[in-house]
Amino acid sequence: MRIDLHAHSWVSDGTETPRALVHRAARADLDVLALTDHDTVAGWDEAAGAALEVGLTLVPGIEVSTLLRGRSVHLLAYLPDPGHAGLAAALEDVLAAREARLPRILAGLQAAGIELTEEDVRRLGPETVVPGRPHVADALVEAGLAPSRGEAMQQLLAPGTPGWVPRTAVDLVEAVRLVREAGGASVLAHPWGRSARGVLDAETVEELAGAGLAGVEVDHPEHSPAARAELRELATSLDLVVTGSSDHHGRGKVGHELGSETTDPEQYERLLAAAAAAADRAGREATRPVRR
Ligand code: AMP
Ligand code: FE
Ligand code: FE
Ligand code: ZN
Repeated sequence: MRIDLHAHSWVSDGTETPRALVHRAARADLDVLALTDHDTVAGWDEAAGAALEVGLTLVPGIEVSTLLRGRSVHLLAYLPDPGHAGLAAALEDVLAAREARLPRILAGLQAAGIELTEEDVRRLGPETVVPGRPHVADALVEAGLAPSRGEAMQQLLAPGTPGWVPRTAVDLVEAVRLVREAGGASVLAHPWGRSARGVLDAETVEELAGAGLAGVEVDHPEHSPAARAELRELATSLDLVVTGSSDHHGRGKVGHELGSETTDPEQYERLLAAAAAAADRAGREATRPVRR
């Protein structure tokens, strides 16, 4: 059984429709795929329909943008009830902050002599719920102003560069609580990947476990073998679920092919059980994986 629990469609910053993503997952011999677009459930229905077409199990998820001590941390939320008012409001707030930031990013770039319009950004992703930095990066590439999304992000949109504008997001501990209240299971996304290493130390992960965190994404393309070994030990010692996922972004990120990292079936079952237990405790109808 091949299980990939982290992938993006063009509803956020992937480059294909939710349906095309699910079809690609089937071609990659996956049995289970989680759709985890950033801060939105807008792709869930289309992906669920496609999962029924190809006979694959679709786990509805969200990659929630959060902040911990001013640093960006991504939290995967599996099977939450999207109708939970607190969670829905937190996602709305993140999307509103990202939307409000776009003109300020473009103004920052303009001040550095780089001309890009909102139309240039939006044209590339008509289905995108709210364009964020990756979409600005893609527009810079399209305009011949940067060689790739990754380089555009690093050279023009990261802290300390002309296009950097901070944005607010829900507090990480609050997000863990909201996901649990919404009957979902939360997993720290790529905790020792590019952005979060400094802030998510062992002590913090232990605190999060106490607050209801269900798991840790250990096998992720951005994690070195040494980081994986250390994280696996940490997660196991805290009785957290260990997951592995590609974090596929279509053509938006190289080295993240669907199924390139996978989750152990036993760990997947534990994750489903954690979500079911949370739904039960919250007295909510559980959101379930979609399968034929
Ligand atoms: P935003 O939430 O709009 O600030 O954008 C954050 C998004 O940018 C997340 O999807 C990250 O995965 C992505 N991201 C951050 N740094 C990079 C990078 N160097 N290359 C590609 N994508 C990145
Ligand atoms: Fe992304
Ligand atoms: Fe992420
Ligand atoms: Zn992701």
